[in-house]
Amino acid sequence: MRRRQQILAEMHKKGRGVAIIPTSSELIRNRDTHHPFRFDSNFWYLTGFEEPDAVLVLLISDTPQSLLFCRPKNPERELWEGFRFGPDAAREQFGFDAAYPLEDLDRIVSEHLIGAQTLWHGLGQNPAWDQRVGQWLEHARTQSRAGKEPPMIVADWRALVEPMRRSKDVTELGLMQRAADIAANAHIRAMQASRPGLYEYQLDAELQYAFLQAGGHPPSYPAIVAGGANACVLHYTANNQVLRDGDLVLIDAGCEVSGYASDITRTFPVNGRFSGAQRDLYAITLAAQEAAIAATRPGAAFHAPHDAALGVLVQGMIDLKLCEGSPEGVLESGDYRRFYMHRTSHWLGLDVHDAGPYHEDNEWVSLQTGMTLTIEPGFYVRAADDVPTHFHNIGIRIEDDVVVTDSGCTVTTAAAPKTMDAIEALMAENA
Ligand code: MG
Ligand code: MG
Repeated sequence: MRRRQQILAEMHKKGRGVAIIPTSSELIRNRDTHHPFRFDSNFWYLTGFEEPDAVLVLLISDTPQSLLFCRPKNPERELWEGFRFGPDAAREQFGFDAAYPLEDLDRIVSEHLIGAQTLWHGLGQNPAWDQRVGQWLEHARTQSRAGKEPPMIVADWRALVEPMRRSKDVTELGLMQRAADIAANAHIRAMQASRPGLYEYQLDAELQYAFLQAGGHPPSYPAIVAGGANACVLHYTANNQVLRDGDLVLIDAGCEVSGYASDITRTFPVNGRFSGAQRDLYAITLAAQEAAIAATRPGAAFHAPHDAALGVLVQGMIDLKLCEGSPEGVLESGDYRRFYMHRTSHWLGLDVHDAGPYHEDNEWVSLQTGMTLTIEPGFYVRAADDVPTHFHNIGIRIEDDVVVTDSGCTVTTAAAPKTMDAIEALMAENA
């Protein structure tokens, strides 16, 4: 309710208005089977309401109101599909000023659009909603002949809500820590289970088991379990190849707790022992990650961790003769991108790549206490004629989740081992 009040106060600066904020609908997977439902993150952030097919309507005026439109009670459907709040209980439980069945949406929104100056809508997010909102607007314009004024401004409410989501409150940080703890345990479980001859999906099964066993938590994105050369495919999700003795396996996996994501990557030897070339690349990647974490503090620009990681990686590439020239020259030419082609961080929260701009007023956002992001440098060496063969097909990424604190940052996913010694010690216990 507090978040809705904050948004309403901001919106009021643009005069009387109506904001339309829908959640997601259920998506059909095939025939009459649905994908598991996931609420829209912005809608949920403002409501806490988890049912599909609901709409938050904010009426912006001197006496602002929050209205919920949701599925009505229906004993027949509830018998098959489970409990629905229905408007009355939803209003009571979630603190709306009023709540209505969905079928009243067109009528009530149309009434309130007359005389509103601004229509707030997340344009482009969903074509069906764009069309429906457009029809409401057109309808309001046809009323102007009767001397009634339609809104003249269409504004995007996401520009107000999404920056708010970047900084987490204590409750959110608690949920994110829980998601981090469960995912860290899942990675430990996968390390303990690893051995040559298993298939990638068998380590994925260990992850999913850990997520479900800890409270029925869904993955926050499809897990990447990539053995050997597959680790050089950044978004590899086939997870169907055999894990070979002497290879590394890269696992990028996290879960959701009450919608809040964790996002961890660990890279470890299938057989529990790092070999020579793997050690060289891993040591550089870990040093890059540690440098990035050290650069994560309030007041630093969002790109500071990336720059810190890149500096270490580029020096390492030169030392290993994978790149030639000075660090400045390699940065300038972009030659390093053959081995490190993504950025080091993204916001983390209700979406794994969380909402919130990275640039504001043509500058990188500076980090503030309570912001949550990932730190995930990588080092990916594909087979190529000008690369020594012992480095071929080694892909490494080390990803932790951090929260910016007053003095620096806290790594919430530190429970998952990441030094070579710690990983080898853990895996040796199961040899
Ligand atoms: Mg990840
Ligand atoms: Mg990530």
